[in-house]
Amino acid sequence: MSQRKAIGIDLGTTFSAVAHIDSYGKPQIIPNSENERITPSVILFDGSNAIVGTLAKTNSVAEPERIVDFVKREMGKPKEQFQRAFEDKVYSAEELSALILRKLKTDAEKFLRCPVTDAVITVPAYFNDAERTATITAGQLAGLNVLQIINEPTAAAVAYGLDKLDQDQTVFVFDLGGGTFDVTIMRIEGHKITMLATNGDHRLGGKDWDDVIVNFVAEEFDRAHGENPLLDLQSYQDLQSRALAAKLQLSSRPRTALVHSYNGKSVKVELTREDFEKRTRHLIEKCKTICEMVMQEAKLKWSELNKVLLVGGMTRMPMVREMIAQLSPVPLATDVNPDEAVAVGATIQAILLMLQEEEKSGAKTLPEDTRQQFSSREGALMQVTNITSHTLGVVLWDDRELEEYVFPMINKMSAIPATAKNYFGTANANMPRAVVRIVEGESSLPGECVSLGTCDVELPPFLPKGSPVELVYEYNENQILEVAVQACGNETKISIERNTGLAPHEVARAKEGLATLSVS
Ligand code: AMP
Repeated sequence: MSQRKAIGIDLGTTFSAVAHIDSYGKPQIIPNSENERITPSVILFDGSNAIVGTLAKTNSVAEPERIVDFVKREMGKPKEQFQRAFEDKVYSAEELSALILRKLKTDAEKFLRCPVTDAVITVPAYFNDAERTATITAGQLAGLNVLQIINEPTAAAVAYGLDKLDQDQTVFVFDLGGGTFDVTIMRIEGHKITMLATNGDHRLGGKDWDDVIVNFVAEEFDRAHGENPLLDLQSYQDLQSRALAAKLQLSSRPRTALVHSYNGKSVKVELTREDFEKRTRHLIEKCKTICEMVMQEAKLKWSELNKVLLVGGMTRMPMVREMIAQLSPVPLATDVNPDEAVAVGATIQAILLMLQEEEKSGAKTLPEDTRQQFSSREGALMQVTNITSHTLGVVLWDDRELEEYVFPMINKMSAIPATAKNYFGTANANMPRAVVRIVEGESSLPGECVSLGTCDVELPPFLPKGSPVELVYEYNENQILEVAVQACGNETKISIERNTGLAPHEVARAKEGLATLSVS
């Protein structure tokens, strides 16, 4: 069997990162062809070219009509709900994501000088089935064998080596990136990770801090010259990159200065870290409130945490670290680069998965040195627990209100596999059959939920009203829901398969469609 090469991909809303395991068995970030360690998740359509990365990002203000960014927010939406058209071609979110992944894969191949075959791709903990499936499809369209989709906080825990520790622990992952904020509390017990709670704000990130500086400088410019420098696209874009640079400086220096020129006029604005922190206090307060909410959801006290992991470039900011230190007595884990932790964890998981595959099949596909480096971690494969993204319920009849309602069998965010068993009474006397209507959704009104199917069982004659019917829901790892109804010795079982991505021939067709575009 030919050799395989796996990478770990942190497919981010604003930036993506790729890592691999080098010949010394160490995880390393793979720089892109622009020699950057992270790649902006931005696409610029230029004729039959799709340009991904910094070049696309720098054009995002000047040529917004040819740019796609924040695709991650659209993942899982069908084409009717989200699509972008360029040069008479219509792209779905999966296809656009596939273009970003293709750039990451191609650049990795250039750097590694070998074909990349496999990948573990990370997704936010709150991603639902559709969003996860779309991510798998995007990977396939980019020509990758997607070994697994894992949660970003899980990947961070693997990068910090928590999977190697023997003691059980409760971990708080604080992830503040360029455009999103996520907090997840996980319990790690014997290499098994369970998510206790997750929360976040998917419209809060580094860009909001940058915008505060942009607006401050624009106000100063207006005060000095009576003109708004943000009305001109070029000037706006310039100021944005200056603001970002100033923010980065304020992470290591107590003060900085910005000069902005527009229309032959300029202003110099001094900004201290203290002033910047005051102006952005409302943003950090938002983060704090979310942290407190997630602790309440997990029913934990701060003193019960064993570790706090920092993920995302914004956690380099002193004000973020101070806020967390005030909340939690646990020392912050800082030995992994916060904007690389997720990709690093993903690549470790990829190798462990491939080792496991080797063991099962007996076929050796990994380089010998990698196998040796990782065999000591045998059995340390982090088991990924997927969660249900929606409540799976059954439609019942309410005798008092005289209307139908949805009874939740398996609640949203339950770990998969999940099983639930309940007994219900027949709605009327002498019913010939008990018909169970299976639905998915959070509402108690059947009309607001998605119908997944029905399952019915024959009933013996002359049964009184309220005769017991047993109902069992089993949702397994392959996202198949099995429903069994049993009454008076009769039983019926059905399987409902959830959508798990495109069929191979569909992937091949969509791939052909994308092949006409060159990606750089
Ligand atoms: P990520 O999406 O995790 O790569 O996070 C990127 C965000 O982190 C961007 O908003 C960056 O401006 C920000 N960032 C990166 N490094 C620093 C730093 N040293 N200080 C403040 N913000 C930073």
